[in-house]
Amino acid sequence: AVPVIAIDGPSASGKGTVAACVAAALGWHYLDSGALYRLTALAARRAGVAWDDESGVAAVAARLDVVFDGESIRLAGEEVGEAIRTEEMSSGASKVAALPAVRAALLFRQRLFRRAPGLVGDGRDMGSVVFPDAKTKVFLTASVEIRAERRYKQLIGKGIEATIQPILQDLRERDERDSQRSVAPLRQSDDAELLDTSALTIDEAVAKVLAWAAS
Ligand code: C5P
Repeated sequence: AVPVIAIDGPSASGKGTVAACVAAALGWHYLDSGALYRLTALAARRAGVAWDDESGVAAVAARLDVVFDGESIRLAGEEVGEAIRTEEMSSGASKVAALPAVRAALLFRQRLFRRAPGLVGDGRDMGSVVFPDAKTKVFLTASVEIRAERRYKQLIGKGIEATIQPILQDLRERDERDSQRSVAPLRQSDDAELLDTSALTIDEAVAKVLAWAAS
């Protein structure tokens, strides 16, 4: 089977950056599964489907017309790489992700990313649901304060005005929703290595994952 490295963890933990760097270092494919939930939230909004309409949103997820091409993400031909990263779509993604029919609709699509020579998948349920046979499973986290600070710096870096308090509040709410939901709740599974990046640089975290993958 094509090898998979599953990297799961909470919002703004840095897992996206680490997963993309690990994929680049190995020359493997990369799946940003969170983007699929974000795209689903955005497509639902555009289609006028409410985020709590389970069958409606699942139908949107099933027929998502998306192309991933390096940094670029196109939805029905339109570049939406930035549009899916807003705080509103972060919140929408975590709402639609709580609906079992939506998760089921996105399952097959995620598994299509598993192609030779290998895949690094980043999300909440890569190791538990989507790729349970992954060779390497990592639960990547950091304290909520550190995560809020990283998100804050990221926004400021992009020239977006931000303050720490609402970011912290939003991360706590999302953590709560992601870990309390009935399907695929966010938690470290027994077979996953714990990687707390609170005091690590990106390079150190990447090196750690590569070492686990090689062992
Ligand atoms: O990782 P990211 O912040 O982009 O994910 C957005 C939301 O999508 C998360 O808050 C989570 O609710 C959901 N998600 C999920 N399962 C995944 C990836 C993301 O439920 N594998």
